[in-house]
Amino acid sequence: MKALRWHGPEDVRLDELAIPEPSLGEVLVKIGAATTCGTDFKTFKRGHPRLIKEIPANFGHEMAGVIEKCGEGVENFQEGDRVVIGNSAPCKKCFYCKKQEFSLCEDLFFLNGAYAEYIQVPQRIVEANLHKIPSSLSFSQAALSEPLACVLHAFEKLNPQKGEQLALLGAGPMGVLFVQLAKLYGVSLVALGRDRSKLENLKNLGAKEVVSLTEDEDAVLLAKSFLNEGRGADMVIEAVGLPETWELATQLARPGGRVCFYGGCQKGSQVQLDTYALHYQELKLFGVFHHTPHYFARAVQLLSEKKICAEGLIVGEYSLGEYQKVFQKGLKSHPLKYAIIP
Ligand SMILES: [Zn+2]
Ligand SMILES: [Zn+2]
Repeated sequence: MKALRWHGPEDVRLDELAIPEPSLGEVLVKIGAATTCGTDFKTFKRGHPRLIKEIPANFGHEMAGVIEKCGEGVENFQEGDRVVIGNSAPCKKCFYCKKQEFSLCEDLFFLNGAYAEYIQVPQRIVEANLHKIPSSLSFSQAALSEPLACVLHAFEKLNPQKGEQLALLGAGPMGVLFVQLAKLYGVSLVALGRDRSKLENLKNLGAKEVVSLTEDEDAVLLAKSFLNEGRGADMVIEAVGLPETWELATQLARPGGRVCFYGGCQKGSQVQLDTYALHYQELKLFGVFHHTPHYFARAVQLLSEKKICAEGLIVGEYSLGEYQKVFQKGLKSHPLKYAIIP
C-alpha cells in the first residue's frame, strides 16, 4: 500500500509498505478520505514534538473509511462497516482519567497515518474512539469529526446560554465550525480576523458582525460596540494561537466574562494580562486542549444528523499522489481544508 510519511522538515514521501494484518482487537480500515489540518502544514515544515515520535513517521489524523478486516476478538464492528476513526484514546486508568479529565490523560495515545491507503487501528482506539457512520455522510465530511470534536470541547466548557454573545478570534477552519455551533446553540457571534475573504465567509455562515484586525481602526473597541452595548462579550474564544491574540481575547470580554484559550501557542510563549480586569472584573480564563471520546461521539452525531454542515470547509480535493501540491499550497495560502482521497 502507499503511505505518506514524514522523513524530515519539508520532506514527506509516498512510501510503499506492506498492508498491515490486524491482530487481536485491531481493525484494518481502507481510508475513504483524510482531511488536512493546520497542524499538518506546521508539522510538514518543522516536525511536531508530540506527533512525530520516530522517523519516518506516519502522517495525518483526520480520517474515515471502510473496515477491510477485523482482528480476532473484535465484537462491535465487522467488515464493510463505514467508520470514522478518532485519533486518540485515553488510558482510562491514570489519575486524570479517573477524574474523567480524559484530554489530560498521562498516557494519551495518538494515532497518525490518515494519508495512506490503509490504516491499522489499535485495540485502544477500536474500544474507545471508533464510530460507525451512516451512508448519507460522506467520508470527507465524516473526517471533520476530529476538528469538530475539539471545537465542541471548547464550546461546552464555556457553558453557553441561549441569547449570549460570543467574540471569536480567528477565521480559519475552526472559526467556521465555531460559527456553526454558535448558531446551533442560539448564541450570537462577532468574529475578528485578518483575512477579509475568510471573514466574509463567516458572515455568510451566520456571524452577526465581522471585524478586521488589520483594516479596522481600533478593532477591539469596534467589536465591543457590537457586544452587550459596549460592555464586551459574555464569552470569548481565541482560535489563533498567538500571544498577542491571547491578550486581545481578555480585552474583548465583559466584566464577569469567560475566556477560552483554544489556540495553542508555541512552547515557552508568555502573555501579559491586566490584573485589574482579572480581579475587579472577575474574568474567568481557561484553556482547552484536544477532545475526548465523548466529544468525538457527539461530533459524529451532529454531522450524521446534518445539524452541522461543513460542506464549505473543504476547498479542494486531491489524490495521495498529489501530496507535493497539497503541502506547497497549504503552506502558501492557509486554505480552510483539503480532502485527500487515496
Ligand atoms: Zn486536526
Ligand atoms: Zn489516562
